Amino acid sequence: MSARRPLVGGNWKMHLTSAEARDWAARFGRQAGGQTGRLAGRQAEVVLFPSFPLLPVLARALTGSPVALGGQDLHPAASGAHTGDVSGPQLADAGCSWVLCGHSERRQDHGETDAEVAAKVAAAGRHGLVPLVCLGETAGERRGGETFAVLTRQLRAALEPRPERFALAYEPVWAIGTGDTATPETAQEAHAVLRRTLSEILGAAVAARCRILYGGSANPDNAAALIAQPDLDGFLVGGASLDPDRFLAIIRACGP
Ligand code: PEP
Repeated sequence: MSARRPLVGGNWKMHLTSAEARDWAARFGRQAGGQTGRLAGRQAEVVLFPSFPLLPVLARALTGSPVALGGQDLHPAASGAHTGDVSGPQLADAGCSWVLCGHSERRQDHGETDAEVAAKVAAAGRHGLVPLVCLGETAGERRGGETFAVLTRQLRAALEPRPERFALAYEPVWAIGTGDTATPETAQEAHAVLRRTLSEILGAAVAARCRILYGGSANPDNAAALIAQPDLDGFLVGGASLDPDRFLAIIRACGP
């Protein structure tokens, strides 16, 4: 485990209603020790990425807790005629401090290109949001020996705007929602490539500070072995984050 403060994100994707989100927050608060204040300090930093309509619900339900909120996406423009999209100022207004950029489900379902991801990273910075940039290869790219070329291409593109604040999530597409988690060795190898490339682009100090999360079927059973890797600084959790007990177990696996 590294000296960087671990970061754990919960990506709720298109799940849960407002009543379920309130219930989640109440259960999470109880399990975390009466109130989520216990998560402050040396424990992992925690951020939830719910779907947009749940942001005000969670902002209320998590008032006073150290759990931060983030959007799952944002439009590069600050406002305008973009039906179905959401802007950085709107996310900030809803209580977000983070935003996911380039999640593979956006790249796949909405054809998001590397250039569009870069524009979103730039927009996040302009509106005071920290981008959590998601990168990862498909099963075919891994089979074809292209993993590191894909990761470095995605990383170089996403950092084109030279963001001041950001974190990365290595999320092999073949591991997302499949139960086929990367082994600690496979994850570490990819994280080390990302950190080396980061160092080439932004310098050694930035690379040493940057948190690189792992995402892809992370769960309470595999979190401890993964977080023990030197370049792994936390998790972006999909399915397991929908259950507050399982999410908390992953957070605690990252704790002191
Ligand atoms: C994700 O979608 O970011 C993710 C990591 O999902 P899961 O944990 O369900 O694989």
